[in-house]
Amino acid sequence: MKILQNKGKFKILALMIGIDGKSPLELIEWAGRTSYKSHHKITKDSAKKFVGMIRKLGHESVLEHSSMIVEFTGISRGFTHELVRHRLASYTQQSSRYVDKSDFMVTAPPEKNLKEKIVELNLPNGTKLKISFSDWVNLNEQMYRGLRKAGWIAQDARQILPIGIDSPIVMTANLREWRHVFKLRCNKAAHWEIRILMVKFLKEVKKKIPIIFNDFEIAKDEKSATIKK
Ligand SMILES: Cc1cc2nc3c(=O)[nH]c(=O)nc-3n(C[C@H](O)[C@H](O)[C@H](O)COP(=O)(O)OP(=O)(O)OC[C@H]3O[C@@H](n4cnc5c(N)ncnc54)[C@H](O)[C@@H]3O)c2cc1C
Repeated sequence: MKILQNKGKFKILALMIGIDGKSPLELIEWAGRTSYKSHHKITKDSAKKFVGMIRKLGHESVLEHSSMIVEFTGISRGFTHELVRHRLASYTQQSSRYVDKSDFMVTAPPEKNLKEKIVELNLPNGTKLKISFSDWVNLNEQMYRGLRKAGWIAQDARQILPIGIDSPIVMTANLREWRHVFKLRCNKAAHWEIRILMVKFLKEVKKKIPIIFNDFEIAKDEKSATIKK
């Protein structure tokens, strides 16, 4: 059993570049200039200005001409359930039907004391037992492993897995959709688990391709971000 607090990670597997080595910005510029028949205006450093202008004008469909593939690990099934609601993306997620989850990694709220005995359970033998979050995860793990040992296959035993169970996922989306995901998931209203990791991810892509994401402002505590007005 392992309880993960603040252990969510992202890894950018790919940021789309052209077959001739064009950067994401150059690809977007090339596509965008098709509208104006202005490819002849392309210079070594025209892409930044052009893409910045396109983004500011709100012609966001042009930003769809480059994509990013990202792997998220150390995150829960709750996180991935929220992530896959974004429909304009492709996903591949670890299967809890076929993959045994006996290593039992569960994400937990970062600021809670997980050892504190706060919940009193009524046991089937009529006694009471006060347990902590950690104790419960331990019992849950014993139950899952017990079912597996008793011959239940993973897809049956998974019915008792908690929503906090770790669930690696790979997501591919274009840059317009990533902007949309950051807008919704870095907002204060989003759940802490997805919000905290998305803010870290946003911080990284702001460095990699600032022109696409530099209108996002990350809060001082790095727990949320919004688009600057
Ligand atoms: C803080 C928060 C709380 C939430 N709470 C709940 C909840 O309690 N219950 C719940 O069920 N969901 C909840 N959601 C999920 C939410 O309802 C959306 O399903 C999710 O955010 C995906 O966003 P989206 O639909 O804008 O975009 P995406 O699927 O990422 O699509 C991007 C954009 O493309 C366009 N688009 C995509 N598909 C279509 C389509 N079929 N037709 C027309 N336009 C389309 C829309 O403009 C959309 O905004 C919550 C989300 C957040 C951020």
